[in-house]
Amino acid sequence: MPKRRRKPKNTPASDVGGEDDVVLRETVPLQLRYYGDAVLRKRAEAVLEVTEAEYLLAEQMLETLYATGNGIGLAATQVGILKRLIIVDIGEEDDETYEPLVLFNPELMGFDGEIVAEEGCLSIPDVTAEVKRPEIIVVEGINVQNEAVRIEADGLLARVLQHEIDHLNGVLFIDRISGLKRQLLKEELLKIQQAERPY
Ligand SMILES: [Zn+2]
Repeated sequence: MPKRRRKPKNTPASDVGGEDDVVLRETVPLQLRYYGDAVLRKRAEAVLEVTEAEYLLAEQMLETLYATGNGIGLAATQVGILKRLIIVDIGEEDDETYEPLVLFNPELMGFDGEIVAEEGCLSIPDVTAEVKRPEIIVVEGINVQNEAVRIEADGLLARVLQHEIDHLNGVLFIDRISGLKRQLLKEELLKIQQAERPY
C-alpha cells in the first residue's frame, strides 16, 4: 500500500551466502509488478525456513518500498517473488525506535468489526477506492529470526496487513469493491495494464 516517504535505517550488511538464489543478483530497488501482470494473481508459497536468502529478500523489499517514496507495505508477490513474505512500515519519521515489520507466512487468525477506508496499491498506481475490511485482526507468522509471532492490530496496521496478505493469495484491493465501482475504474486500470514497462 502506498502512503508516504521514509528512509531505511539499521540496514544490516548482507554479504553472506546464497549465490545460487536469483534474488541475490537482483539490483535494488527490485522491479515492481503492476496490474495486468499475471504474477499478481498467483498464490505465493509458504516459506519453510527463513534463510539468508529470505532475509536478503526482505531487505531488498524494504529498500524497494522506501524507493517508492510513498509505500507503507509490500508483498513479495509485488516484486515477482512467489514467497509468503510481507513487509510493513507505517512508522512515524520522527520515531527513532520504530522498526519495520517483516513477516513470513502471515495468516489471519481472527477478526472483529468492520470498517471502510480508502486504499491504494503500489501495483495499481494512482487508483484508490474505499474498501470494507474487518477492523481488528489477529495475524500470526514468522519473523526474520524464525520465531513465531502474533500481532493484534487495528487501524492502519490492520488494514495494511490484510491488504498485503491478500497479495499473497493473488487478491487485489479492487477485487473487494463493488462491480459498479470497479467499472468506474475500468479505464484507469486498462491504462495501467497497457503501460509500457522497462522490462
Ligand atoms: Zn497492494
